[in-house]
Amino acid sequence: MSNSLFNPTPRILMGPGPSDAHPRVLKAMATPLIGHLDPEFVQLMDEVKEMVQQTFITKNHLTFVVSAPGSAGMETCLVNLLEPGDECIICINGVFGGRMVDIAERCGAKVHKVETPWGEVTTPAQVKAALGQCPKPKLVALVHAETSTGACQPMKEISDLVHNAGALLMVDAVTSYCGVPLKVDEWNIDAIYTGTQKCLSAPPGLSPVSFSDAAVKALENRKTKVQSWFLDLTLVKNYWSGAKRAYHHTAPVSSIYALHEALSIVLEEGLENRWERHQRVHQYLKSELEGLGFRYLVKEEHRLPNLNAVYLPKGIEDEGKVRRQLLDDFNIEVGGGLGAFAGKIWRVGIMGESCTYNHVNMLVGALKQVL
Ligand SMILES: *Cc1c(COP(=O)(O)O)cnc(C)c1O
Repeated sequence: MSNSLFNPTPRILMGPGPSDAHPRVLKAMATPLIGHLDPEFVQLMDEVKEMVQQTFITKNHLTFVVSAPGSAGMETCLVNLLEPGDECIICINGVFGGRMVDIAERCGAKVHKVETPWGEVTTPAQVKAALGQCPKPKLVALVHAETSTGACQPMKEISDLVHNAGALLMVDAVTSYCGVPLKVDEWNIDAIYTGTQKCLSAPPGLSPVSFSDAAVKALENRKTKVQSWFLDLTLVKNYWSGAKRAYHHTAPVSSIYALHEALSIVLEEGLENRWERHQRVHQYLKSELEGLGFRYLVKEEHRLPNLNAVYLPKGIEDEGKVRRQLLDDFNIEVGGGLGAFAGKIWRVGIMGESCTYNHVNMLVGALKQVL
């Protein structure tokens, strides 16, 4: 009997996600199931929607949660806003911008790429130049927090350029959400998606999404059907419309319980306090890591506090071996590099519940042993 139980070793999660979940969130997952059309569950979904609006800082009516991870949120935004033949501009400075291009091309869109070296951010001048080449794009997409490099993209100036060109602004906020300042209405973001397993510290598998009125209009004005049935918002939106809700698919009930609890925890702490905590713990982590000989990849002004991309101290030949030692001997997970940075950098996440002085002390103490 006991062989049927999966009993993983308790880990300290300090990679690019998932992050440690609060015991309250884990406990919520064990709440007995109710039907997804039960009036009490409808009430729960209404509350989740309202808390997603609060944490995105938006009044957007079309705010909901995709029953699939962050990548599905990305795909939801693109498949609903792009039709075959549409032109769009996608800014790439890491893995996730590249993924957007792949999806947009599958939608049949003509993609104009704005490419920036990994570790840097897209400049307003680059966007301006791209708009010169493609003056009437339907959409411009950017990654707010590029988890592959630890760079935080400034948004406001680019947002103005995009809207002056009459385009929609789409933003990936998977790693920034609930960890660094993110203001959907103030920054005029038209389509945004995030994930639950990074700074929100809920289990992976859900993607909060929000569309502005302009984005909803673009959806309503489509000439063709959305290519994906599951992600088609003209259908999904009726599932998130309170008492009137119509069956679309069966919501992942236990995951929504967990999301509700995680959002409550964020709002109890306060968004601004949470942003400030990530900054404060980052400063401590930074001074400790630099003391050990690590060097940051991203310039200070564009550095994410919650995803620390660092070169290893000189003399370490095999970073994978050191990471494995951290995992085997200390139960600590940190992330390796992606793409061109594989084998060269680490990605140390201090996200949500994993963003504490104690987490930093555990990591730094272990590093002093293994290095
Ligand atoms: C993690 C991440 C994603 C993908 O989210 P999944 O939940 O893994 O599908 C997309 N964009 C960014 C910036 C991410 O960090």
